Amino acid sequence: MFTLIELPYAPDALAPAISAETIGFHHGKHHQTYVNNLNALLPGSPFEGLSLEEIVKKADGGIYNNAGQILNHNLYFTQFHAPTAKQAPQGPLAAQIDKQFGSFEAFKTEFVAKGGSLFGSGWVWLSADEKGELVITQETNAGNPLKKGLKPLLTFDVWEHAYYIDYQNRRPDHMKALWPIVDWDVVEKRYQK
Ligand code: MN
Repeated sequence: MFTLIELPYAPDALAPAISAETIGFHHGKHHQTYVNNLNALLPGSPFEGLSLEEIVKKADGGIYNNAGQILNHNLYFTQFHAPTAKQAPQGPLAAQIDKQFGSFEAFKTEFVAKGGSLFGSGWVWLSADEKGELVITQETNAGNPLKKGLKPLLTFDVWEHAYYIDYQNRRPDHMKALWPIVDWDVVEKRYQK
């Protein structure tokens, strides 16, 4: 049985990038529904007892879609916090971003552009390969770069349910507003793990 993660911040902590109302629907309804669906589908399946990561790598159909969405939302919601003075990564991740993208600003521009040009529902991801090289990918629907052998570091949810209450059709504006709430300590730890 999987359970819905608890958020490490108050529902209104991420406003105006993500309002308390959006948190209520996105975490309280959408994320919860993926958990409920997976728990209903797993009993008697070959995936019972496996971790979310293992299910995402091995399953397909409804089990894959719901497990993927739980994992994606777990990574998404735990990478945010109320804005702090730390507005950029430090250490090895910062060095690698500079090396590959030229600057942190250039990285952010490319990341938002990739999320903005994703057709339909999905996710834009920053991941690392086994050598520590960074890659930005677009994943449709429940896609997670884990499936491609990559280590997921940071993601922006571009399903309309992630931003429509607060930003309506303005997906790029919503994505740009997310930068101040990214918890770079969390993203750095994922990179170094
Ligand atoms: Mn979502």
